Amino acid sequence: MAMQPYKGSCHCGAIQFSFEAEPFIHGIRCNCSFCAKRGTMMHLVPGAKFDIKAQEGSLGQYQWGAKTAKHYFCRNCGVTTFSEASKWPGQYIVNLGCVDGVDTFALETKVFDGKNLL
Ligand SMILES: [Zn+2]
Repeated sequence: MAMQPYKGSCHCGAIQFSFEAEPFIHGIRCNCSFCAKRGTMMHLVPGAKFDIKAQEGSLGQYQWGAKTAKHYFCRNCGVTTFSEASKWPGQYIVNLGCVDGVDTFALETKVFDGKNLL
């Protein structure tokens, strides 16, 4: 499938991002201890054209466990926007709920067994 341009943001708009990806057919939910609590539906996207525009001081970062991933969130509204993981270099793990035009409730859900694989 052809790559399409997408735009996304946190809830308050302090963090804006854009990227190109193939149209989303499914979303991924992870059952690791962090994702089970935040409940995010995600998908990997290529990082080459991933562009982040964040208001100064708004981009927070959370790491836990072996700290192999950086989970970014908005310090103002608290929404988790995207992550980077050393397991998937050159790609971003995007919170699909933050992406304009993507209805996460209409997407098929796949489960990533992060509880056992991370
Ligand atoms: Zn925000």
